[in-house]
Amino acid sequence: MNEHQHKSALSESQSNNSSGNVSAESAQRIRDSRRNKSSEKSLLKDLLEGNKTALGRSITLVESNQPKHKEMAEAIVEGALPHAKKSIRVGITGVPGVGKSTFIESFGSYLIEKGKKVAVLAVDPSSSVSHGSILGDKTRMEKLVTQKNAFIRPSPSGDSLGGVARKTRESILLCEAAGFDVILIETVGVGQSETTVHSMTDFFLLLKLAGAGDELQGIKRGIVEMADAIVINKADGENQKAAREARLEFKRALQLYPPKPSEWKPQVHLISALYEKGISEVWEMITEFKSSTDKNGHFEHNRQEQNKFWLFQSINDHLKSQFYNNTKVKIELEKQLRLIEENRTTAFTAARALLKLS
Ligand code: GDP
Repeated sequence: MNEHQHKSALSESQSNNSSGNVSAESAQRIRDSRRNKSSEKSLLKDLLEGNKTALGRSITLVESNQPKHKEMAEAIVEGALPHAKKSIRVGITGVPGVGKSTFIESFGSYLIEKGKKVAVLAVDPSSSVSHGSILGDKTRMEKLVTQKNAFIRPSPSGDSLGGVARKTRESILLCEAAGFDVILIETVGVGQSETTVHSMTDFFLLLKLAGAGDELQGIKRGIVEMADAIVINKADGENQKAAREARLEFKRALQLYPPKPSEWKPQVHLISALYEKGISEVWEMITEFKSSTDKNGHFEHNRQEQNKFWLFQSINDHLKSQFYNNTKVKIELEKQLRLIEENRTTAFTAARALLKLS
């Protein structure tokens, strides 16, 4: 057995430039490609059988920036797509400390008891800098992580939210192909990440605390507008009275928002994620949402609209990276930036000159 056969599908191939022997190189490339195809096939087969290791490895390929892995990932996603089962995708947001992971732990365990298969993914805008701050530490969901029917994946790292989002979108499809029927997507209540998660989920749940003002919770008006439910957490012990008051306040506030295209009226719930109170009611609400939006056609329509949105998003991402990676553009960009510094051109003229190159 030679060295190559020992390598995993995920290992980097080393091109042998020293020999200068083109035919040997191309023969190696063909062997590599054949090996990739066969490992792709067996990975896809295992994934479709619900094997979590295969699912994890496929997501690693989706998250990789190496061209060879990207190719394999594309083939696996394409192969998985027709098998993606019907699922419900739930976005969960709220500021750090509100109890997202405690909620996911309780909610996920409840769903598994009901016979569901639960996948937990994350979109973390800070992950590109800090290499994943949410879900990075799996011990935050100690119980869930040991469950056979749970799959937990930290946020992918990426150089932009767009990149992270694409990877998460493809991971959702892979989870569905592996038979997971509830997909929970966690994000922190900062920046643009809610809008991104909203654009890839069916139901958007905002976790809040009683007693803390909106500014304190870092929640912007737009996020409340996106929410299908506001769930007030830590409604336990001495906090219960404040939680009930907050519920009334939120209910009143929600009436001021325009009706949603889904015709769904956002609900406000009280829960205690820690003491597992109110968890079943959250699921009942989501089931009610699903059946009412199935009936009025919004559920399917929304998914189609999301797919269209992601089509444009993918094209934009691709065009952008193609443009900035173009060597001619790189050289000319330096030149145009200097001209701008010296006030010898305008931004528009410079942009036109650069765009002509691609
Ligand atoms: P995250 O940052 O939003 O994921 O929040 P965590 O789930 O890590 O929770 C932050 C802290 O709040 C932890 O110490 C939890 O034990 C606590 N916590 C979470 N949910 C509840 C709850 O329902 N009641 C109480 N009293 N504490 C909670």
